[in-house]
Amino acid sequence: MSREAMRFDPSLLVEGRRRRPILWLGHPALRQTARVVEPSQLKTDAFRRLIGDMAQTLEDEGGVGLAGPQIGVDQRVILAGAFPSERDPSRPNHPVRAFINPVIVARSSQVGAAYEGCLSIPGILARVVRPHAVEIEYLDLNAMPRRLRAEGFLARVLQHEIDHLDGVLIVDHARSFGEIVSLDWVLSQMRGATSGGESSLSTETTTVSSEHGVSSSSASSSAATRAMSP
Ligand SMILES: [Zn+2]
Repeated sequence: MSREAMRFDPSLLVEGRRRRPILWLGHPALRQTARVVEPSQLKTDAFRRLIGDMAQTLEDEGGVGLAGPQIGVDQRVILAGAFPSERDPSRPNHPVRAFINPVIVARSSQVGAAYEGCLSIPGILARVVRPHAVEIEYLDLNAMPRRLRAEGFLARVLQHEIDHLDGVLIVDHARSFGEIVSLDWVLSQMRGATSGGESSLSTETTTVSSEHGVSSSSASSSAATRAMSP
């Protein structure tokens, strides 16, 4: 089985799919509230192509989530999933699938903080506090209403992508500039930690990159924040 087939729901692997350019922080399209998708649109060739192109873009970027506005599409459609990566082999395996018009209908009171990355903000991580679990309602690609309860990493990816539909980015969650850090810096700290060398990154500090896997699960202690602040 190909890597794509393991990581993606087969309905996303549309024939002739191609990568689309990702918009970066600063592009006004990333700050707009995306429009609701009409269920009748889902059956059109154009929409199927869009889904295929989003899957190809995500595959090429090695990511686990992508929202329509990130490729300049003004529609409430996201792809989200989770799979183990080299840096985070313990991550759960949820093949990437499409969620149309996703709405968060319930949130856990338990929250966690983690550093997230974003394909639209290359090289940067920001500390984001989010509910540990959420329940969402959405349409699947057959326009069937669905409900999903997700927790941990997948819940974080879903919340990150749904934020994009409302023009919200990870940097908006940081409470200070100290909570926005360079990805290269974090990776250098992690290398220091794994080689047993001196590191300012405590062992309980872990990093999540919602869209392009950096490392493991969420950190909820304030020590993590302190350790990672420049
Ligand atoms: Zn993002």
